Amino acid sequence: MIKNLLPKHKRKNPPSLTETIPFGAVTTNHMLICDYLPRKNGWQTPEIIPYKSFSMSPSAVVFHYGQTIFEGLKAYRSQSNDKDLFLFRPDQNAKRMAQSATRMGMIPFPEDLFVNCIKELVKVEKDWILPSPGALYIRPSMIPLDKGVSYRASEAYRFFIILSPSKNYFAKEVGVSVYIERTLARAAVGGSGEAKCGGNYASALLPMKIAKEKGAEQVLWLDALEHKYVEEAGAMNVMFIYNNKIVTPALSGSILHGITRASIIQIAKDLGYEVEEKRIEIDKIIADIKTGKLTEMFACGTAAVISAINCLYDKEEKIPINNEKIGEVTLTLKNHLLNIQSGIAADPYGWRLPI
Ligand code: PMP
Repeated sequence: MIKNLLPKHKRKNPPSLTETIPFGAVTTNHMLICDYLPRKNGWQTPEIIPYKSFSMSPSAVVFHYGQTIFEGLKAYRSQSNDKDLFLFRPDQNAKRMAQSATRMGMIPFPEDLFVNCIKELVKVEKDWILPSPGALYIRPSMIPLDKGVSYRASEAYRFFIILSPSKNYFAKEVGVSVYIERTLARAAVGGSGEAKCGGNYASALLPMKIAKEKGAEQVLWLDALEHKYVEEAGAMNVMFIYNNKIVTPALSGSILHGITRASIIQIAKDLGYEVEEKRIEIDKIIADIKTGKLTEMFACGTAAVISAINCLYDKEEKIPINNEKIGEVTLTLKNHLLNIQSGIAADPYGWRLPI
């Protein structure tokens, strides 16, 4: 059961279709919260309430020890029938969030309840789901509730969900440039790279700043041990295309298990592309771009879906890819995935969950 507490409060209207809204800048009128209280039988009944701030003690664990996790997924409005609303593979986010919780010493949120909470909250805010290629971005999070600065895992937690209408993640559609970060690492094997925890994103901020200073939009991450093998691009997974073959870093223990990545691998195989998951040396990638063997490169994730990578910055060198244009294979894969996500194409995989 989910309690719907919707007292009359001042409500905003969803943005108009012509309005420019930067990703994540606007939130809807309601949120969902569900607390884990060990002395009150664990998870409480989830509640949908007006969007509001939390009040927490300055000694709260959340402000000191980084025990925070989150997820990101979208609700879509079908292009064929605008009453037809659905989520894309929310069970996968539920599973990943539970795994993140375990890694961070937190209490995993029940996976079925995760999906139901999202469905109920999105139903309340269905008018905020922008028509495709827009959507409604869903941000489930979990934070510790205990206070007191002694270093430990919290005993109580708050799971909450907020929503934000989303248009295009990257303002321009032509693709992004990435800076090869050869010193600082995002995550190490045995560390927390496979968890979607706040700390991973905090430690990526300085390299992002450096990338911007070098003229690039995103960071290309290498492994933490040898600084030799490609891992991810920004907060996205990364894929390389050699004519009809797609190569992507194998999940090494320090790479986030992207749901878009898994979906693209499935689609690509079914379209007849050869897909290989393996360790990929950055110097080989650079050599293959220069000889023209590597034809395209792209990053993928929920927010941006598929974003072509149009050039690499390596130290002071700029290395363009495919004349800085979106390639054919990238476009084919992007259209196939977007057509499933926008309800235009059939859904042979059962990835759409009606709301
Ligand atoms: N890697 C990182 C570090 C990310 O933050 C994300 C976005 N969640 C991804 C990859 C892509 O994951 P997904 O396709 O599930 O959004």
